[in-house]
Amino acid sequence: MRIDGHLHILHRENFLPELLEEMDALGLEKGLLLALPAAQWKFKGGICGGNDDVLAAVREHPDRFIGSVYLDPREPGAIGTLHKYADLGFRGAKFHPIAGYWMDDPRYFPLYEELDRLRWPVTIHGGLSNMPYCDGSGRFTESKYADPIRFEALFRPFANVKWIIAHAAWPWHHVAWGLALYNPNVYLDLSAGQAQTIVLGQVEQLGVECTCQESVVKKMIWGSDCIRATELFHQTWERLERMGLGAYMPGIFGETIAELLGLEP
Ligand SMILES: [Zn+2]
Repeated sequence: MRIDGHLHILHRENFLPELLEEMDALGLEKGLLLALPAAQWKFKGGICGGNDDVLAAVREHPDRFIGSVYLDPREPGAIGTLHKYADLGFRGAKFHPIAGYWMDDPRYFPLYEELDRLRWPVTIHGGLSNMPYCDGSGRFTESKYADPIRFEALFRPFANVKWIIAHAAWPWHHVAWGLALYNPNVYLDLSAGQAQTIVLGQVEQLGVECTCQESVVKKMIWGSDCIRATELFHQTWERLERMGLGAYMPGIFGETIAELLGLEP
């Protein structure tokens, strides 16, 4: 099954039909829809969609989309939000620490305990922020909070969570790679152009002869982040083929995330 492991929803005319059309053309049967802070962030020519927008899209196209709930651990009701959307059929969660918090703050551990119980895939934005504003207050996002070394404290205590580092945390992709190498429950999302170009360059450089490097390649998840999906899909596909990594492509382009989401093959 071919899946886009990193999608968002935007309030833009014809957004969903166009997204589905592009997915169809690429043979992408499903997409993981990651919610963002509702109506606060401008993103690629639209206002980003929050949990209820994702819920509406999943309800409209239950065979195509899987919902991932946006959580802000600073919000006192975050555990309640998680359970509400879990009950509504969501199967993953998304964090955006660039909004201004450290993922490894122990005050948030009770929320991670709930995620651990659910055994969900949890995507954390890693690496530089391309979103200027946090919210209507005019605060800016800050990339420092998305240094993946600050996620490390979660990986071993919350070992049932499948932690997905979005964008392979470019330009901290070496750190993200090392974290995936040493933690069986850490995965790398290749969404956005830099991650695909640079991280695949790293794979080319390191090769997969060593089983430890291979273990990371097996945990790479393709996603478009709704940016140049067609172009990046083909580029990545062709590059992996050229590198002789065809055997890993079913996993990268869908089977790995399908397994994490518990989808039937
Ligand atoms: Zn994204």
